[in-house]
Amino acid sequence: MDPLLEEHYRTVLDRNPGEQEFHQAVAEVLESLAPVVRRHPEYLEHSVIERICEPERQLIFRVPWTDDRGRVQINRAFRVEFNSALGPFKGGLRFHPSVYLGIVKFLGFEQIFKNALTGLPIGGGKGGSDFDPKGRSDAEVMRFCQSMMTELYRHLGEYTDVPAGDIGVGEREIGYLFGQYKRITNRYESGVLTGKGLAYGGSRVRREATGYGTVFFTEQMLAAAGDSISGRRVIVSGSGNVAIYAAQKAAQLGAQVVACSDSSGYVVDEDGLDVELLRHVKEVERLRISAYADERPDATYVAGGSVWDVPCEVALPCATQNELDESAARTLVENGVRAVAEGANMPCTPAAVRLLQQRGVLFAPGKAANAGGVATSSLEMQQNASRDSWSFAHTEDRLREIMTGVHERCATSAEEYGAPGNYVAGANISSFLQVADAMLALGVV
Ligand code: NDP
Repeated sequence: MDPLLEEHYRTVLDRNPGEQEFHQAVAEVLESLAPVVRRHPEYLEHSVIERICEPERQLIFRVPWTDDRGRVQINRAFRVEFNSALGPFKGGLRFHPSVYLGIVKFLGFEQIFKNALTGLPIGGGKGGSDFDPKGRSDAEVMRFCQSMMTELYRHLGEYTDVPAGDIGVGEREIGYLFGQYKRITNRYESGVLTGKGLAYGGSRVRREATGYGTVFFTEQMLAAAGDSISGRRVIVSGSGNVAIYAAQKAAQLGAQVVACSDSSGYVVDEDGLDVELLRHVKEVERLRISAYADERPDATYVAGGSVWDVPCEVALPCATQNELDESAARTLVENGVRAVAEGANMPCTPAAVRLLQQRGVLFAPGKAANAGGVATSSLEMQQNASRDSWSFAHTEDRLREIMTGVHERCATSAEEYGAPGNYVAGANISSFLQVADAMLALGVV
């Protein structure tokens, strides 16, 4: 790291011990900022780097609930309100046993920059719990969500902090969370949560938005290099919300999507994934990905192993952080990959990113490529505020327009700061400038 920023990074390490994912996310941003602080010394003079690395507020609380057998269960929940220079804190909630403060802080930190890239007025935050919804009944999930909201509600508000979904938190969980918020506050404040069902204030395209947005960004990135996604062999990892709709949009644009995965294994379907079947297996039946292969005689299920061993031209990691390491990146390059776009947050390790960039693979970082989810959440807030409900076509057009803007901002900033074609640098620089200028304008708060 550049000596100008090294000391700031050391401070982050010292002040946040043991939070490896947070350290990784901070390093990835700071590594892009040396040319920025050289050109704009005022950011260092006013301690903008230290301030941006320190959350405005961090909440940790106990969530007690009763399971179906009448036993009391205890989970831990978090909300990190990272930065509100551009708007209310905005970012999802994750329910997964791996959740701890370091994961929530990495996600919240990323969210500041991602939200800025959308060009919409939203700050950055993130939350979650180590609760594991897998294998729990609907009634258990409901009781957990109600208990979590009973503490969280006092920190939320459409002008304060607006959560949404993430891993393990979909429409079902958002519904239970919103129901409890409404009950406790006695207010129908639709804009306090996004990712709601269409029946009660949700936005069309929100469910599809992150996956669709990732593919729209990939389309732009390929077009800028004189290429196209049409006819390309594509792999998505994961088989959750982001993966399913990335596969759907890529197929609609003429790509052949041949594989997806979950944490137990992967499926290869050379005829192209049947996205409707995948949706049914995962969203309706809530089964494992192996059940997809049971329904499709020509598809193969591979238990364990790495989905990145399957040759492809476009790779869309859409599962979780650090799922694509250097050796997987090497395999992808050997198999002729042209573009990698992160549908998930930080799915590629730093060594994987370096290798892909060195080998001339087009690489889109998550904070740019998966910004379509939060952007459409912001469109949901707009509809809630104006008591309106937009059509699918109109909302998808807005999403595409926003993703084109995100691509342009990344490409232009990369060019201006001497790193043409480097979307990591472009995304970090463009978003940092916007947040840093707002922070300077707002004074020392
Ligand atoms: P889901 O819970 O809907 O799906 C997650 C998928 O990833 C599942 O298939 C899951 O498999 C798999 N997965 C989770 N952990 C692991 C692991 N350790 N190893 C392998 N596979 C794993 O989550 P989303 O699709 O919503 O989120 C996926 C990623 O996208 C996350 O990084 C999230 O932060 C990011 N993201 C999501 C947005 C959204 O709008 N939902 C917005 C922006 C980013 P299994 O069922 O076996 O656990």
